[in-house]
Amino acid sequence: MDHASQDPHAEIREEVRKLCARFPGDYWRKLDAERAYPTAFVTALTESGYLGALIPEEFGGAGLPLAGAAAILETVQAEGCNGGACHAQMYIMGTILRHGSPAQKKEYLPKIATGELRLQAFGVTEPTSGTDTTSLRTFAKREGDKYIVNGQKVWTSRAEHSDLMLLLARTTPRDQTAKKTEGLSTFIVDMRKVLGKGLTIRPIRTMMNHNSCEVFFDNMEIPADSLVGIEGRGFRYILDGMNAERLLIAAECIGDAKWFIAKAKDYAINRQVFGRPIGQNQGVQFPIARAYAQMRAAELLVREGIRKFDAGEPCGEEANMAKMLAAEASWAAGEACIQTHGGFGFAEEYDIERKFRETRLYQVAPISTNLILSYVAEHVLGMPRSY
Ligand SMILES: Cc1cc2nc3c(=O)[nH]c(=O)nc-3n(C[C@H](O)[C@H](O)[C@H](O)COP(=O)(O)OP(=O)(O)OC[C@H]3O[C@@H](n4cnc5c(N)ncnc54)[C@H](O)[C@@H]3O)c2cc1C
Repeated sequence: MDHASQDPHAEIREEVRKLCARFPGDYWRKLDAERAYPTAFVTALTESGYLGALIPEEFGGAGLPLAGAAAILETVQAEGCNGGACHAQMYIMGTILRHGSPAQKKEYLPKIATGELRLQAFGVTEPTSGTDTTSLRTFAKREGDKYIVNGQKVWTSRAEHSDLMLLLARTTPRDQTAKKTEGLSTFIVDMRKVLGKGLTIRPIRTMMNHNSCEVFFDNMEIPADSLVGIEGRGFRYILDGMNAERLLIAAECIGDAKWFIAKAKDYAINRQVFGRPIGQNQGVQFPIARAYAQMRAAELLVREGIRKFDAGEPCGEEANMAKMLAAEASWAAGEACIQTHGGFGFAEEYDIERKFRETRLYQVAPISTNLILSYVAEHVLGMPRSY
């Protein structure tokens, strides 16, 4: 089932598997019950260099292609762990890498590569604008050598476990720009310097352990050189990072699906009811087989999207569809896994209900299924824009 012979990252997967074996189900269950952060797991991934996978070697990272990073995250999920606690440390830095000044790259990237600095908070979503990102209201006003930031973000994951935040804020009011996508800027905010001084972070309790937060900016002062790239072009910069994020999260969903399918298959083979394995009944086999087929189809599209990304080819179509299909495949596999386990699927000690809650997120974040369908309808099929 692991198609290892065709996999150029088989060795990385094997090493990640060994690391994950140190963090079994009871580790995650305890954290889940307490809604606590998996510090030991994240430290182990950091120390092994996996979270610096995409940072070029000249800045101290592993310089792997996206395919390598995807292999790491997929394996983390397939082993029953949860990369959602730190996956953003891999890709948020891409905005600095692509659009940051030489001084910003030199200052931040080597420290992000070693884990000395955690850049895993991404402040885009706001309570009033939701998916309509260009309507966001957080405003950064230039005053001399500073920006003064006012506004609010919601669902800023890992804000309490990050030193830096990549923030998207308006710098020109929307009614003063020719296009709504203009006048937004990206900033790298050193949260350690402003926490309690204009920055407030409030955790949101959610159905799974995701350490997501509300973040408030009240006359938060940040140095003018926190701006990344050119003022007003931030929306473009955020879009530039989205394909990588979607493909990596799609890879995580493939990992989840593999975990559910392996667990369901083993149980179906071993559980005896009416004097025979439940997996002998087609009513039990077929949902697992269907989920496997769904996962493999999605996996092929994830790999194609990653291949195009790594080749520098446009991959918006594949990245979006891969993310949607992989999230649906992991959900279908989770559903089959719970059903196969009957009552035991609901028992915490089997980890299925925890993974089931965790994987559900990816049909909503970082972008919901409807918005992916809108992208495909408009940009791939040429139908009229719906919003
Ligand atoms: C646990 C968690 C972690 C997150 N982490 C982060 C993070 O770190 N940083 C960050 O910036 N954001 C984060 N998000 C936010 C996430 O990206 C958004 O929740 C998601 O993009 C949807 O936005 P919304 O919740 O505002 O939904 P809304 O925009 O209010 O949409 C609600 C529903 O309506 C549908 N909808 C809206 N408009 C249309 C339309 N035109 N056509 C069809 N359907 C439509 C959507 O598909 C959705 O199903 C996170 C969210 C969660 C739940």
